[in-house]
Amino acid sequence: MKPVPFRYVRADSLEEVLDALSEHGDEAKVLAGGQSLGPLLNLRLATPAVLVDINRVPELGGAPRDEGVAVTVPAMTRQRDAERSAVLATRCPMVTQALPFVAHSTIRNRGTVGGSLAHADPAAELPTVATALDAEFTARSTRGVRVIPAADFFRSFFTSELAEDEVLVSVRFPARTSGEGTAWVEFAPRHGDFAIVGVAAKVGLDGSGVVTAARLVYSGVAETPYRATEAEEALVGQAPTPEAMVAAGAAAAAACRPPADLLGSSEYRQNLIQLLTARALQSAAESARRSE
Ligand SMILES: Cc1cc2nc3c(=O)[nH]c(=O)nc-3n(C[C@H](O)[C@H](O)[C@H](O)COP(=O)(O)OP(=O)(O)OC[C@H]3O[C@@H](n4cnc5c(N)ncnc54)[C@H](O)[C@@H]3O)c2cc1C
Repeated sequence: MKPVPFRYVRADSLEEVLDALSEHGDEAKVLAGGQSLGPLLNLRLATPAVLVDINRVPELGGAPRDEGVAVTVPAMTRQRDAERSAVLATRCPMVTQALPFVAHSTIRNRGTVGGSLAHADPAAELPTVATALDAEFTARSTRGVRVIPAADFFRSFFTSELAEDEVLVSVRFPARTSGEGTAWVEFAPRHGDFAIVGVAAKVGLDGSGVVTAARLVYSGVAETPYRATEAEEALVGQAPTPEAMVAAGAAAAAACRPPADLLGSSEYRQNLIQLLTARALQSAAESARRSE
């Protein structure tokens, strides 16, 4: 199948992007890396009248920027460049831990960080990581600038908080603090496939090794990245023992009602939540001990 005919607008500045989106509204679609939009166009699941190509917009590109307490990643940063960024590896290691699981390197060469987030696929790695790290999204339109917390950004399956005339400009990931460790663990049929379940775990330890803060966010189990708040709260004040981690996994699985699909039943996903949570917590706790 081929896409329906569309008008192609190659924007050379952010102003041109905003003007095109303002003029065409829900008739327009932004084209970033095209790794999700391309297949949707070919299958005619997306039928925009206008495609606004943002690949040559200088204001949307560039390398991740170290701001000390956070790293700002321009929307058009290729996933592969983010994966290789020393700034992200040092300041926001969860991003670096998760990116190798996003598709294959050839897809990451074109796919962008902003495209993955704007696409809002609940099975994707980056939306889950952004939620776990309390990232902030900067969106622009001719109406102005908005900063949207990750907790409010993902609305439903493939639906973000971005309005039709808004473009995602950048995402800001808070930097890891001392005593904090992170991990990304997932289970997929084959490496590079979308995971059936993925877990982003963040653990803060005090000087005596007791958990001061925990964050557990899952991909593939709900219509947006799913946060297991009860399991997080149960971990705080405890030593991160294998028993505590297994109990956290059980609590997270019990609180969640994942959807069933061809890849697995709801119960199968709950089993994965339980298993992967313990693994992710162990890895995050080890990384927290190293960062003290
Ligand atoms: C075979 C295959 C396997 C894949 N496996 C995985 C996987 O395991 N995990 C995973 O996370 N992803 C996977 N992907 C998707 C891949 O990561 C895409 O790169 C990503 O989802 C979209 O990024 P993109 O830059 O290609 O965006 P595009 O495809 O260009 O755009 C995607 C959507 O986001 C919108 N958009 C893009 N950028 C912006 C912006 N700056 N502002 C506003 N809207 C914007 C577009 O209008 C479109 O609706 C896979 C893709 C393929 C083809």
